[in-house]
Amino acid sequence: SYFFQTGWTGENERTFVAVKPDGVQRRLVGEILRRFEKRGFKLVGLKLVKASEDLLREHYWDLRSKPFFRGLMSYMSSGPIVVMVWEGLDVVKTARKMLGETNPADSLPGTIRGDFCVEVGRNVIHGSDSVASAQKEISLWFGQDELHCWEDNSRGWIYD
Ligand code: GDP
Ligand code: MG
Repeated sequence: SYFFQTGWTGENERTFVAVKPDGVQRRLVGEILRRFEKRGFKLVGLKLVKASEDLLREHYWDLRSKPFFRGLMSYMSSGPIVVMVWEGLDVVKTARKMLGETNPADSLPGTIRGDFCVEVGRNVIHGSDSVASAQKEISLWFGQDELHCWEDNSRGWIYD
């Protein structure tokens, strides 16, 4: 339950990121993992999953009345996705910056969407939009036993 996870602040903040079916098809998984790793964030959860309609509906519940919702459901269930949890200082906000804007056309080069896609309906990646959303999404996609705490031996080279 995400009620246990509300202590995630500072260096322990966590976010949920998913490489969507187009990102998996287009072999972008390694590139995306690489960007988060090299930034200095800590990987605490990772798996390849075929999302159920129920899970996707809950994940995108706020968008249920949008005209593109049905298309979004079929896009997201069209193939496996890679879900991950990253930990670090301000990781929610920083991950959103690394992703770029929802519409790839508005995304700057250097961002994931700005480098790898062109249309909003195939924007290759998801990232939580707030700490509260991250907590909900992590508990929706991951079991407690799938999130791993490990001692970061390069911590002193990443944090002052
Ligand atoms: P995000 O947080 O940047 O992913 O954007 P939203 O939460 O607003 O929307 C979730 C996802 O729905 C987006 O990443 C797109 O895959 C999709 N989406 C949002 N707006 C549109 C739209 O206008 N058209 C289509 N086809 N898909 C959209
Ligand atoms: Mg969103």
